[in-house]
Amino acid sequence: MATAVVVGSGPNGLAAGLTLAAAGVEVRILEMADRLGGGTRSSELTLPGLIHDECSAAHPLALDTPFSRQFDLTAHGLTWRWPEVQYSHPLDGGGGAAAWRSVEATAEALGGKDGKRWQSIFGTLTNRFDKIASEIVQPVLHGPTHPIAMGIFGAFSGMPVSVLARAWSTDEGKALFAGVAAHAFRPFGAPMSSAVGVTLGTAAHRYGWPVAEGGSSAISGAMIRLLEQHGASFETGVEVTSLDEVSGADIVMLDVAPSAAARIAGDKMPRRVARAYNKYRHGPGSFKVEFAVQDGVPWTHEPTRLAGTVHVGGGLAEIAAAEKATSRGQMPDHPYVLVCQQSVADPTRANGDVHPLYAYAHVPSGFTGDATAQIEAQIERFAPGFRDRILGRHVRSAVQMAEHNVNYLGGDVVTGANDPRQMVFRPRMTLSPYSAGIPGVYICSAATPPGAGAHGMCGYNAANAALKHLGVETAASTRAEGEPVHGW
Ligand SMILES: Cc1cc2nc3c(=O)[nH]c(=O)nc-3n(C[C@H](O)[C@H](O)[C@H](O)COP(=O)(O)OP(=O)(O)OC[C@H]3O[C@@H](n4cnc5c(N)ncnc54)[C@H](O)[C@@H]3O)c2cc1C
Repeated sequence: MATAVVVGSGPNGLAAGLTLAAAGVEVRILEMADRLGGGTRSSELTLPGLIHDECSAAHPLALDTPFSRQFDLTAHGLTWRWPEVQYSHPLDGGGGAAAWRSVEATAEALGGKDGKRWQSIFGTLTNRFDKIASEIVQPVLHGPTHPIAMGIFGAFSGMPVSVLARAWSTDEGKALFAGVAAHAFRPFGAPMSSAVGVTLGTAAHRYGWPVAEGGSSAISGAMIRLLEQHGASFETGVEVTSLDEVSGADIVMLDVAPSAAARIAGDKMPRRVARAYNKYRHGPGSFKVEFAVQDGVPWTHEPTRLAGTVHVGGGLAEIAAAEKATSRGQMPDHPYVLVCQQSVADPTRANGDVHPLYAYAHVPSGFTGDATAQIEAQIERFAPGFRDRILGRHVRSAVQMAEHNVNYLGGDVVTGANDPRQMVFRPRMTLSPYSAGIPGVYICSAATPPGAGAHGMCGYNAANAALKHLGVETAASTRAEGEPVHGW
């Protein structure tokens, strides 16, 4: 029986382990933290009984992938819950904009020309999103099976946000796109800076932005249950510092950042690979605060009260300035803040009238300051009275974020800058992005295609490359492409 060691138990490490174990490989997972799950951990961080997602919260890209089709996590304890409004964007004066599952409802709420533009751009993309998604979960360099859909997707994605946002003329239309585009952690003038916003914006209409019932740890929990069924073993509190510690395994999967992979491999790694891994670029950081909030957040903009995710930062120009500043290493006075109100989608997350709220500001890489007051001021600006409802806080600075998970260098929670080169070639320029340059050794973290998110696709793709190396066949899928999962 072939053997594999997986270093790191984030969703990609677990997905890699599961894909290997299901194909008959004996899998051992080593995790340096005291708990499994990496970016899908959820914990009581503020008040007893209130569960907070430490990292991932909304999962638009986890629903219909080759991984989710092969491993039905919803049959093993994972239940997806959708908010009524997928994401929203409050503006000064009590107005704002919101994205519903329905493109039509979103367009109607925007109204006028802007509504028509939303319909024409996101309607066109949503109708083709199954095809687009099947391409973008693979490394970018492959022969496309859906060239027309990809051509349309590429035309929008290739634009800087500042250019694509001209499609809308009102503050609401521009802000709605700016808010989702800012997930990329990129300056809005940069080429391809629209790609993440176009993807997540379309996914909101096709799949929604669901949260995992009870907390994101339900995602890793389901994977762990399946891994146990396949006989995998786990050890926590074990930091792997050298490949010598895992010698003997036929396959080593590294769910780590590229620079860490180079360190672990040492002089076993070809110099050109190590050089490329050490040159891999990381993006700005995040400063995160969990709140326990009495009766939820009193947003003035009504649809925002129904939203799972709220983009806080004012209009397009203000967010553009904030994103430009953080990418240049400067802390803006009014940062872009990403807020999740999980209990709106999943009422089991509230403890009576007390709701968990998660908010993180984009900050410069390695930012050592305290952004708590700025985060609270940004929320208070659109929800007067918010501060008076705070019953508890848990703060994690950009520096602490990197301590919490060593893959988040400088607080970079997406494990790598989304610049054009790294969007096409990550973690290095090669046709075999998962190969660490050593036979049997693979990198499978979010630094590999298709990039950040708790979707497991980096791990799944890396494991399939390893199975090919072993000459072992992958197990079959349990669900057809596009076949709805429960509650979809
Ligand atoms: C604040 C925040 C918000 C986010 N929001 C979302 C969201 O809403 N939706 C979404 O889909 N994604 C979100 N993400 C991103 C998502 O969590 C990550 O992209 C995802 O977890 C990456 O998975 P991974 O398996 O590559 O690595 P990780 O989840 O980072 O896990 C890597 C694991 O490897 C371990 N490890 C590293 N080095 C070693 C070593 N040498 N030895 C042993 N163990 C090691 C680490 O301790 C860690 O547990 C968010 C992340 C953060 C931090």
